[in-house]
Amino acid sequence: MQKIKALIVMALLLAACGGNSGDGADAKSSAAKQKSYQWKMVTTWPKNFPGLGSAPENFAKLVARMSNGRLKIKVYGAGEVVPAMEVFSAVSSGTAEMGHSAAYYWKGKAPASVLFTAIPFGLNAQEMNGWLHYGGGLELWRELYAPFNLVPFAGGSTGVQMAGWFNRDIQSLEDFKGLKMRIPGIGGEVFSRAGGTAVSMPGGEIFTSLQTGVIDAAEWVAPYNDLAFGFHNVAKYYYFPGWHEPGAMLEFTVNKEAWQSLPDDLQAIIEGAARAINQDMLDEYTARNNAALIQLREKGVDIKSFPADVEEALRKFTDEVIAENVANDAMFAKVYASFDTFRKNVMEYHRISEQAYFELRDANL
Ligand code: CA
Repeated sequence: MQKIKALIVMALLLAACGGNSGDGADAKSSAAKQKSYQWKMVTTWPKNFPGLGSAPENFAKLVARMSNGRLKIKVYGAGEVVPAMEVFSAVSSGTAEMGHSAAYYWKGKAPASVLFTAIPFGLNAQEMNGWLHYGGGLELWRELYAPFNLVPFAGGSTGVQMAGWFNRDIQSLEDFKGLKMRIPGIGGEVFSRAGGTAVSMPGGEIFTSLQTGVIDAAEWVAPYNDLAFGFHNVAKYYYFPGWHEPGAMLEFTVNKEAWQSLPDDLQAIIEGAARAINQDMLDEYTARNNAALIQLREKGVDIKSFPADVEEALRKFTDEVIAENVANDAMFAKVYASFDTFRKNVMEYHRISEQAYFELRDANL
């Protein structure tokens, strides 16, 4: 009887502590639940730019509703608080609590970051989501960003991108010689090895750079976003597919102290909203790229793929560039081992599922 009484008392105590070890965490958590938070989110995109810019706005609206206004996030476009390419540093230092960008822009700070956006001949959107959320990818991403005081989340995918806009008809690898192209990440390194010169610049600068001849070619995203920037007015040829970005994954980043200051329910709201917006962006691109492609065709854009020798060379140079990155950076090697194993395994099944189905459907419709 005495023993049962003791057990009941213990159970009641545990329930009152919410499972905590009684270190005052409960009092802290109920105080935090009353508190309201006003956060800033800086982004790499022009304010309200279709897809890329609307995703962080949708995220902020969803978080405000889910938290009943306890967590309000104001979203800033590129240049409003910090320039497009300083989002990582701004969130790392706490200038802003959150950021929305793409990990491969931070290649200079952490070479392995490119693996969390896209690498040439890498994973598509569906596979990337599988690797991040059920294949160990997100844990590695958190490990990579921990020294920078950042907690990353998947922040939406554009799906397979286009290879980009060129002002020259690419008939062989020779035609890459001397070409200056806006192309970030590992794709840029490969393009340089193939004879061109890779340039990195924010999306908002591409149109003018193409128009004035500062660059001869540029990749941005795909029909929906490329039409919005009007690239068809300044380049003639539009190449597919996006060999360099087969499923570009964007990122939400949260400053680590800001993250730790939130009570558990607001952390769960950020996790849930990020996951929802991650899927929502892919849905939007899946629906809107088709409509934009039709418009680009109607405007007379020449839409074509690279000749076989160019595709083969890009594949060969990618292997070289990846091998060098693996040899030069221990974290790149660690993340790439996980990425590459996942790719090999998922390709086995996708050959007889997604890929086989597309071929079957194409042959019958
Ligand atoms: Ca791109």
